[in-house]
Amino acid sequence: MNLDIKIDQDRLLSEIEALGAISEADPPVVTRVVFTAADLKARAWMKARCLEAGLVLRQDSIGNTFARWIGSNPSAPIVGTGSHIDAIPNAGKYDGVVGVLGGLEAIRALQRSGFRPAHSLELLVFTSEEPTRFGIGCLGSRLLSGTLSPDAARKLTDKAGATVDEVRRSAGFEGELEHVKLPSHYHKAFVELHIEQGPLLECQKIPLGVVTQIAAPASFRISLEGAGGHAGGVLMPDRRDALCAAAELILAVENAARTSGAVDTVATVGICEVFPGAVNSIPSRVHLTADIRDTDLQRRDAVIKSMEQASRAVSAKRQVSIHTDLLNADAPATCAPEIIEALSQSCRKHQLRFLPMVSRAYHDSLFMARIAPVAMLFIPCRNGYSHRPDEYASPEDIARGVLVLAETLAALAS
Ligand SMILES: [Zn+2]
Repeated sequence: MNLDIKIDQDRLLSEIEALGAISEADPPVVTRVVFTAADLKARAWMKARCLEAGLVLRQDSIGNTFARWIGSNPSAPIVGTGSHIDAIPNAGKYDGVVGVLGGLEAIRALQRSGFRPAHSLELLVFTSEEPTRFGIGCLGSRLLSGTLSPDAARKLTDKAGATVDEVRRSAGFEGELEHVKLPSHYHKAFVELHIEQGPLLECQKIPLGVVTQIAAPASFRISLEGAGGHAGGVLMPDRRDALCAAAELILAVENAARTSGAVDTVATVGICEVFPGAVNSIPSRVHLTADIRDTDLQRRDAVIKSMEQASRAVSAKRQVSIHTDLLNADAPATCAPEIIEALSQSCRKHQLRFLPMVSRAYHDSLFMARIAPVAMLFIPCRNGYSHRPDEYASPEDIARGVLVLAETLAALAS
């Protein structure tokens, strides 16, 4: 196949800017939490771009959006690409968006090149990749893949106590969640373009990363309950300070990951809520979250075990009750060799160096891997920064990623 694929870099960049401006915060800060006004506005804007490209739109009851370029063999399995456009509070404009707008530009570039797909090509915009609102990441792809049951999804609530069903319906997404799961063999392949969210490509001056494995995250909510009291009145021997217990536990989690023996093990306590949170009051209650990831399930589970042991020890020592809820523990994914090969061939064709690598962040592709052959393509991001307003990917890196994506989609859809 000898296609002359030209990426319209200027248009793509101006679209990334335009989407980045749809935010609950002032630019350059992007905050776009699922089913808020900003998210709905961004969805409408995105759908308009897909319609301009002549794609056929469909959305499911959780708001996953599908934009299809119908192939000459419409009943053949789909070749998919896509990512997410929701953003955590105080984020940047590239996470997820590069895969969505880049996926759209890849399709447009193929249209301009005169290519005609045999398999339909479909852009997928996943609902709520970020866990901000409902405490669970990849809500859309979990339901698409059947990893999360509709019943379990209906039990999720946001901070205000509103259920997923209430929130999605008031955002205009009707129908039953039972219909979200994709039929088996829906996809021939699914490829997600994404910024690396780590420093390796930039450090090694390699323009592209071909993902071979996606690390497995497990997350927990930990509640500690001690005894409050006056900061002056209660003497040290009588204290059951929940925050001091939490501090010990946090360091134990860090230490378990540091000593796992592998660089792929990472653990983070990212939330610490202290009650009552007053300067002269002993903390009586603390809520923590812990996020533990690895490419190796056994190693990850060993860190979880260490955390549980530390919980018991700290609880006994400090007379503080510690309760741990498992929010999710997902298995790692291995990318499909045939898609890795298609990506690699495309890189070679354009004489672009690439690095086979592990995705340490979690993506919708992790869940799509349960029902479809998947792979991911990474581009560098400055300093490895992501989930912050100064997140940045260069126009050249974005365009290179989109070119390789387009070439790969064409190869898979032929
Ligand atoms: Zn992302």
